[in-house]
Amino acid sequence: MRSRAPAAWLVTALFLPVVVRAQTSPRPWQQEVRDMLARRGAAVVARDERTFIATMAAAPAAFKRDRLTWFRRMGPLPIGVYRLDYTGEEYGELTRAVDRGRHPGEEVHVIQVKERIGFRGYDAAPQAEDAFLTVVKGSRGWSVVSDRDVESLALQTQRELWDFGPVETTEGGGILVVFHPAQRAAARTVLTQSEVARAKVKKLWPMPWHQDHVVVMIPSTVGELARILQTTFDLSTFVAFAASSIDRSVAGWRLTGPRIFFHWPNFRRQSAALQRVILQHEFTHRASFEVSGPYVQSFNDEGIAQYYGEEEYNPPTPELRSRVKTGRFDRHLPPDYLFSVGPPPDIYLAYEEAVDFVAYIASRYGRAAGARLYRAIGADNPIAAGSWRYHFDRACRATFHVPFATLERDWARRAIKDLS
Ligand SMILES: [Zn+2]
Repeated sequence: MRSRAPAAWLVTALFLPVVVRAQTSPRPWQQEVRDMLARRGAAVVARDERTFIATMAAAPAAFKRDRLTWFRRMGPLPIGVYRLDYTGEEYGELTRAVDRGRHPGEEVHVIQVKERIGFRGYDAAPQAEDAFLTVVKGSRGWSVVSDRDVESLALQTQRELWDFGPVETTEGGGILVVFHPAQRAAARTVLTQSEVARAKVKKLWPMPWHQDHVVVMIPSTVGELARILQTTFDLSTFVAFAASSIDRSVAGWRLTGPRIFFHWPNFRRQSAALQRVILQHEFTHRASFEVSGPYVQSFNDEGIAQYYGEEEYNPPTPELRSRVKTGRFDRHLPPDYLFSVGPPPDIYLAYEEAVDFVAYIASRYGRAAGARLYRAIGADNPIAAGSWRYHFDRACRATFHVPFATLERDWARRAIKDLS
């Protein structure tokens, strides 16, 4: 508004606020709320239960009890960073009439904050996920009174393992496993397997892996996993996930607070040998996060995790072979959605095409080709015009001196020749 105002208005605007401020010193509500959120965040790090409770003075008893349980369950965790950043950069404020109706006569705002959680010794930068908080101004100042008032808009506050039950930890050699007491015996095995898998990935992945301290989370149920990851697809065919926050406040785009999550009922059923391969696959994702970027496609991610993480094995590709033989191979690399939704054969096809492509470029440009292409795409400016294909094409030309369309066509020809 200021920049569009005529010059005469500008003069008034310059002087008037100074006079008002001198008389009443009002602080904007946003600043008062930020102060309260800073106290709440500091209380979590300091394990200061009284201050934490004081930031919920006007909240219903059930919400207070629920959040206090959450707070107490964090006791065993090495929390180095906990912040609730209200910047207003994305949604800002989401208050609706229904929210004002719930708190008649009070000042109320529903705000999006970035909840940053960093594990000491593990996170180079904290995870940054959304929390949607309702804050109310009562007689004793601002309070957080709810964190689920915009769930009807599909805006969910981040939940963690300790939202679903008590947690314990086991750690060693820069690997932290967080689990519920029921998985205590299994967690030790996971820690040992993780150490072996990480050493293997450090040999297999052709790029440096600098931040190699790893956090592994074991949710007990698939429902818990789905709520934590906020997934909307069927998880029944998946065994593990490498997840991370996208933090756009740092250099435009950065993956932070990486975690490995298990689909525990599926993972526990696998043989020890297969569990190790699954861990290597996930840890390759984890290592590649350091050179990732917004234009990286799922076929890159899954291609490198299978090719390098699963020890460069050139796997049988039965689904791809079947599509080639029956003339149903579309000669294109799969779009992202095919890696998660659709019938299982389509998901298998997507994974097979992804690893087949990396194996193909390795046969043409050497073992590190898939990793080199991945790094080139990841290094592109995160704030630039152009579709992913445009950025992909630039990366292919820079790395192999070949347009992407040519590389994709050559790969498809080879697949047809080899598999028909
Ligand atoms: Zn994967």
